[in-house]
Amino acid sequence: MAALDDLIAAWPVWPTILGVHMLLIVVPASVAFLALYVWKGNPLRERKIQPGFAPSHAIRREVFYSLLTAFIFALNGVFIYVSMANGWTLIYTDFADYGWLYGAFSLAVTIVLHDAYFYWTHRLMHHPLLFDRFHRLHHESHSPSPWAAYAFAPVEAVVQALFLTILIFVLPLHVTVIYLFMIHMIVRNVIGHSGFELFPRGMPAHAVLGVLTTNTHHDLHHSSRGSNYGLYFTWWDRLAGTEHPNYREAFDRVTRGQEGPAVLSSEAPETRSPTATDNAGADHGPAWNVDPRGACGIDKLETPIGAPADTLADATETRAAG
Ligand SMILES: [Zn+2]
Ligand SMILES: [Zn+2]
Repeated sequence: MAALDDLIAAWPVWPTILGVHMLLIVVPASVAFLALYVWKGNPLRERKIQPGFAPSHAIRREVFYSLLTAFIFALNGVFIYVSMANGWTLIYTDFADYGWLYGAFSLAVTIVLHDAYFYWTHRLMHHPLLFDRFHRLHHESHSPSPWAAYAFAPVEAVVQALFLTILIFVLPLHVTVIYLFMIHMIVRNVIGHSGFELFPRGMPAHAVLGVLTTNTHHDLHHSSRGSNYGLYFTWWDRLAGTEHPNYREAFDRVTRGQEGPAVLSSEAPETRSPTATDNAGADHGPAWNVDPRGACGIDKLETPIGAPADTLADATETRAAG
């Protein structure tokens, strides 16, 4: 059990690693939450994706599980640190070893590989045999806030952490590249769960920018499930026929400042089964964003955007066939 001995022997660095992982999650989530949910001058207030706000007890739950995820990521960080210190990994500390060009290339490759890893493990965790144990907790946030980004069940947090643990044994990565990857991962994830759309109008239809996921993209995944599994890029959803059929329309509606989320009442068939906690006690949030219909939470939304709320399965089959 040499590895276990090494892990224990590294105890002096445990607090530092834990602190770094806490900051990596707490700082972006706090900044986004304060800017979008507390600051009255929020410039994106017309771009709230869903009219309802998560109730305060849901936010507290998201914060708790985010901190738990940071702790699990930190344990993984200790393992990575010990593995690196013992020379077991391909992590390096001198850019001259592979050159700056390789450093940039390895960052891009890591992000593309992580997107693929996320898409397929995410789809797997939506399988009925795995969903309850692995992923249901994350989906308790039907109207996500920035704190939902890392609100995972512990077992899902382990799945998310494993990507980097595997990669450092197969791809040479500079320490700085690893940190840049983690910062990018967390910032993109926090933005994607922010509940507000900040990307420019027309982006999903853009030939180049359309490959990037928007906030509406992942918000739809939380409100209707069964579609939009991707993290950074849209290509896996498009290739596999799992992009929400009304995604572009929903995005356009949100970025025009209209009531965007009506489409979210469209049930996806896969695993949608509201529980007693679904939006229980949802409040209206800041006065500037009270839904004029009095709607509060997705269960009260009634008017789908565009086409009727045909099942996603039908739409997906049609797209796949096409
Ligand atoms: Zn999911
Ligand atoms: Zn999510």
